[in-house]
Amino acid sequence: MRRSAMASKLKRLILQVAAGVLYYTGAFRLRLYFRRAVLHKREICVLGLHRVLSPEEEAQANSLPGIVLREATFAQMLEFIKRHYRVVSLPEFLGEIEDDGDRSLPCCLLTFDDGWRDNYTTAYPLLKKSGVGGVIFLITGLVGGSETFWVERLKRACSDPSRWQRIKECYQHSLGTQCHGVDFDEIVESLKHMSAKERGKVLAGLLSQDAKEDSARNGDRMLEWEEVAAMQREGIEFEAHTVTHPLLVYEDEACVRRELVASRQVIEARLGKKVRAFAYPNGTWNEKVRNIVRECGYECAFTTERGWYSLGKDRFTIPRILLHEAQVAGINGRFSPALLSLRLSGWR
Ligand SMILES: [Zn+2]
Repeated sequence: MRRSAMASKLKRLILQVAAGVLYYTGAFRLRLYFRRAVLHKREICVLGLHRVLSPEEEAQANSLPGIVLREATFAQMLEFIKRHYRVVSLPEFLGEIEDDGDRSLPCCLLTFDDGWRDNYTTAYPLLKKSGVGGVIFLITGLVGGSETFWVERLKRACSDPSRWQRIKECYQHSLGTQCHGVDFDEIVESLKHMSAKERGKVLAGLLSQDAKEDSARNGDRMLEWEEVAAMQREGIEFEAHTVTHPLLVYEDEACVRRELVASRQVIEARLGKKVRAFAYPNGTWNEKVRNIVRECGYECAFTTERGWYSLGKDRFTIPRILLHEAQVAGINGRFSPALLSLRLSGWR
């Protein structure tokens, strides 16, 4: 085992032991109780998830680990959340409906970004079984299509060593950089932080030899409208996450308005419901974008800034706690309530 891998494993072990001590001594529960009963904080924990994959789906998927939870981990996590939190719907979150749940428990809202197909095939049966609801933020331009998200297309192309070499060179050439040792995550991060038009140009060069998508074998598919409708009938809520997922801070105002208005209109027309909430792509926002979201008629918007939402605070910059496998599974690969509690406490 390489030294860096050993160091990272040791770090995870130490973190898990520390989380275990805090969890089994009741420190997390005491902290929550103190904030609610003594400081009278009225807070809701909003969880941000993306993909939930069965072992078969995981073998086919090309997503970065930062957006993936395994099916078994998710199932156990749901049971834990159901026991220790009062899971609320969006109207309950917005304070419009009084639910009759256990008021001694902290509140939690479950959200999923993008609208991956595994939300239907893998997450939804588990949500249904546990009687827990959730909100899925859809990228409307990708629903029902065979097009894959650009990150997954790039990852798939880079998994071929000869293409990876060519893509690296092409990337350095297109950005005029000379840097050596560039890695995949670095390329993705830099491509995220530009307008969709600029990114499209760079990607066209990087993926010029990419074969046409074979949608039947595509392990990174998005939801179909029929699947969305079926989940809506069972109480899953659908809200907007733009049409094409640009990072809105890099787009001009006309584009931002188009993305916000069109995604809302499509969901409203397809599902016969009012769209009220928005999730910023990549969680990225600024004051200007925030104001346009409000002007476009949304009632609230979710970021990826870490923390619990305090009732009464700005509804257009609601923080969330993003979760992926490494944050909630221990070194034995199984769900760890201690690690989840540590993550939810905001201490990590
Ligand atoms: Zn997204």
